Amino acid sequence: MNYVSTRGFAENNVSSAEAIKRGLAPDGGLYMPETMPKFGAEFIKSLIPLSYAERSSAVLSAFLTDYTKEELLTDAALAYAEEKFGPSPAPVSSLHDMHVLELWHGPTCAFKDMALQLMPRLFTRALKKCGEDKTALILVATSGDTGKAAMEGYRDIPGTKIQVFFPTDGVSRVQKLQMQTGEGENVSVMAIRGNFDDAQTGVKRIFSDASIREELAKNNIFLSSANSINWGRLVPQVAYYVSAYCDMVASGAIRMGEEIDITVPTGNFGNIFAAYIAKLCGLPFHHLVCASNRNNVLTDFLANGVYDRNRPFMPSISPSMDILISSNLERLLYLVCGADRTANYMKALSENGSYKLTDADFAKIKETFVGYYTTEEQTKETIRLIFQKENYLIDTHTAVAAHAAAQYKSIYKAERKMLTVSTASPYKFAKDVLNALDPSKDIDGLEALEALRSATATEIPAPLSGLDRKSVRFSTIIDKDEMADAVMKFAAN
Ligand SMILES: *Cc1c(COP(=O)(O)O)cnc(C)c1O
Repeated sequence: MNYVSTRGFAENNVSSAEAIKRGLAPDGGLYMPETMPKFGAEFIKSLIPLSYAERSSAVLSAFLTDYTKEELLTDAALAYAEEKFGPSPAPVSSLHDMHVLELWHGPTCAFKDMALQLMPRLFTRALKKCGEDKTALILVATSGDTGKAAMEGYRDIPGTKIQVFFPTDGVSRVQKLQMQTGEGENVSVMAIRGNFDDAQTGVKRIFSDASIREELAKNNIFLSSANSINWGRLVPQVAYYVSAYCDMVASGAIRMGEEIDITVPTGNFGNIFAAYIAKLCGLPFHHLVCASNRNNVLTDFLANGVYDRNRPFMPSISPSMDILISSNLERLLYLVCGADRTANYMKALSENGSYKLTDADFAKIKETFVGYYTTEEQTKETIRLIFQKENYLIDTHTAVAAHAAAQYKSIYKAERKMLTVSTASPYKFAKDVLNALDPSKDIDGLEALEALRSATATEIPAPLSGLDRKSVRFSTIIDKDEMADAVMKFAAN
């Protein structure tokens, strides 16, 4: 199966390995499979008795046709090993009025692990398949979850080095400690004096600086990214939607072939887009509900067909969804209206910060996608109510989705079962979860973990409970104009 750019100008027909190696297409577009595989009822039934790694590799091999089945199974088995994800990497928990797909059982307690444990393995194979002998230096700017998940995924992976930049005051205490205590010989992390945009802009500048690239090439190094623009990060996410459907059939929650709706807490539009891919492959998914926090650019887009990023950026208690440009939306546009119009919309976005869909394009998107947003107060209330009613503890991002799912149900009155995606352990955002349960409590850092445990009689996930025993390895703070130097230094050692 070949991959093409969403903007259509690049030379067509790269292999999946080439698409994963490159990340971004040369014309600035994102890679998409030229055709969609079909997952019929027989295929889905055949996956039901299998392990998560087996299900995942079966889905992957339909997309990554230049990888062998053995390669994909080996990689998935290592990525989703029990030491890393426990006995069940992506379980579905059933509450009274919804089913919850828990994607945070991996080593960093957020859903990014589902892709970032597997993608580095696909990536090193891609380098081999493409005859690339240089070392890949993966640069990451992070607002929290991606940085730590990428560090865990790439640590000690041969042929790679990984360097992460985070805003020194822009991540939670738990997130900061997770990164500063990271392990691995090929890892570097630094804090930036500035905000997430400064870190992101700095990384983009390094990527587009030809003199840096030349200098690095002398050390036999090239730059690459672990961002969700890379197809290698999206395709492992398709697998968990297929797996969740298998689990719901197996538990008797639904009949084989029964339609369900899915609600996804959304930032960069990667996770919900993976659900859409699964739907295009034949999974019986009816509506996909796009849940946003108060950065509700996607809610407006799905209500009126206008994408407009010209609005203030608002920090929230669900920070991994604080985003004004959802990169993977470009892939949806490509499927709906083709490369030419996608390129025009993206040009308008970069020139004016906004674009308006044609009526026909908007109508197609609305067939599947519905959007709601959740305020900060509603987020906290949802955490409290679900804990009281169900004795089930959710994090702030999942609460945004649970509230949106309830809104959808009250408006559409659909009989279909709802699958709500849970993207982080409540302990990763312990301070705000605790405050939601008991507004008199305002405790930060590792003490919040213990306080949340005793307030709810739930377990602290092992990767977080061990944090206080780990030593801080990375405490350097630099100015944003020192980033390029830091990269050159790390590349040379
Ligand atoms: C990254 C992230 C999201 C947003 O996912 P996208 O694929 O960017 O839409 C939601 N919740 C958590 C906890 C995350 O880390």
